[in-house]
Amino acid sequence: MKPAKVRELFERFKALNPEPVTELEHSTPFELLIAVILSAQATDKGVNIATRKLFPVANTPQAMLDLGSEGLTGYVKSIGLYPGKVKNILATCRILLDKHGGQVPRDFAALEELPGVGRKTANVVLNSAFQQPTMPVDTHIFRVANRLGLARGKNPREVEDLLVERVPAEYMLHAHHWLLLHGRYICKARMPECPRCPVLDLCGYEAKTLPPAEDLPLAHAAAPRVAKVTKRATAIVRKAAAVAKKSRTPVSRGRSRKTSRSAR
Ligand code: SF4
Repeated sequence: MKPAKVRELFERFKALNPEPVTELEHSTPFELLIAVILSAQATDKGVNIATRKLFPVANTPQAMLDLGSEGLTGYVKSIGLYPGKVKNILATCRILLDKHGGQVPRDFAALEELPGVGRKTANVVLNSAFQQPTMPVDTHIFRVANRLGLARGKNPREVEDLLVERVPAEYMLHAHHWLLLHGRYICKARMPECPRCPVLDLCGYEAKTLPPAEDLPLAHAAAPRVAKVTKRATAIVRKAAAVAKKSRTPVSRGRSRKTSRSAR
């Protein structure tokens, strides 16, 4: 994607949502750190349901350690992979107290050393809790960046490096959330909602979804493609039905002969 298009893309995201924020509920960097650890392979909604009860009881490393493994499990057992997450959270709290005065470090290397905190989590915390212009690449951003043609890479690290290189500095702070929210609500994994996409004309994805049938002008333009696909699908279904019919016929005949012989 050319630099002018990249700029146009982020201008549109900015116009639609000037100050995007994480959907993980938190009021301190520590709460955000715990919420992000819990969110691995889980939904933000599920994490919020658990932390709404957990944080009023324990929102410091010491309070979390006082809960202990059993106590913490009671609050987070609705979240997938919770046994490992409980273990990591308690080990992280121990290190925060022993090495960082009970505070969440603002430093990437120190964050990445914490149990349960990988590259993506460290960058999310730096971005959302400390307003650093980092680019954590999750499954949504990986997909959206590749589809758009903004950053085509084989793995999250490749996409991250390309995004850091290509996203203009003035958009970097919010670029992570713009791309993530776009992937979560419009450019969805199985069925992107291209007809209502605000950056449709900038997108390089070849398999864009079609507009609804009632959207006449657009549907008209897409009609030849739809007709071609439908014709081909009909032919395949007819051929499969004919083959199935043919293969069923001798079996039923064989059975009826056998049945009539044994009946005799
Ligand atoms: S046009 Fe479709 S594929 Fe491209 S970014 Fe928008 S929703 Fe995603």
